[in-house]
Amino acid sequence: MQHFSCDLCGCQIDDQRYVVHVELFPAFNPDELSSADLDVDHLHAVSQSIMQGEGLPVPPEDVNGTGTLQFDLCRECQLRFRRDPLGKSIRSPMHFSEN
Ligand SMILES: [Zn+2]
Repeated sequence: MQHFSCDLCGCQIDDQRYVVHVELFPAFNPDELSSADLDVDHLHAVSQSIMQGEGLPVPPEDVNGTGTLQFDLCRECQLRFRRDPLGKSIRSPMHFSEN
C-alpha cells in the first residue's frame, strides 16, 4: 500500500487523500511580438548570457510561464485550501483590535 503525506502540513494521509491539480498558463498569446520585443538585440542578449554562464536551456514549460503542479492534501488542509486557495490570509497584514 502506498503512503502519502500532506504537502501542506506534512501529516501522514490515511485514506482521505485530496489531490490539487494546478495548471498555469498565460492568458495572452506569448508568441505574439510587440514593438518592445523587436527593439531587443537578441544576438547581443544571447552572447551576454553565454558569457555569464547562463546559456543552459530553459525547460519548455517555463518558456511561456506554462506548467502544471500537483499536491496531495489531508482533509483539514483541503478544507483550508478551499477557503483560501491562494493563501491570501497568510500574506495579508494581521489586524489587531484597538484595545
Ligand atoms: Zn495537511
